[in-house]
Amino acid sequence: MKTRREKIIKLLSEHEDMTLQELADLINVPVKTVVQDIDSVRKTIKYDNKRIEVRPAVCLNCNFVFSGRSRVSDPHKCPECHSEWIAPQKFRISPS
Ligand SMILES: [Zn+2]
Repeated sequence: MKTRREKIIKLLSEHEDMTLQELADLINVPVKTVVQDIDSVRKTIKYDNKRIEVRPAVCLNCNFVFSGRSRVSDPHKCPECHSEWIAPQKFRISPS
C-alpha cells in the first residue's frame, strides 16, 4: 500500500505534464490536498536528485504566462486582461 505522496511521485514520474486536477481525480482527493502534497514531495525528491518541473499556466485570452510563481496552486485570474480562461499548470518529475 503506497502513501498518497508516493502515488503522486509515481504518477508524476510516469506521466508527463499532469495538471493538479488530473492528479486529484486519479488519487481521489481534493485539489487543495494535492497542492499541499506537491509542496512536500518537492522537498522529499530533492534527496533523490530529482525535481518537479512546472509548465506555467497560460491565459488563453491574451497569452499571459504565469511564470516564476512560488505558489503551487493554479491561478484563477489573469493580471493582464482579468480573464478567467486559463490553461492550468502542468507538472512532471525529472532528474535535476
Ligand atoms: Zn489574460
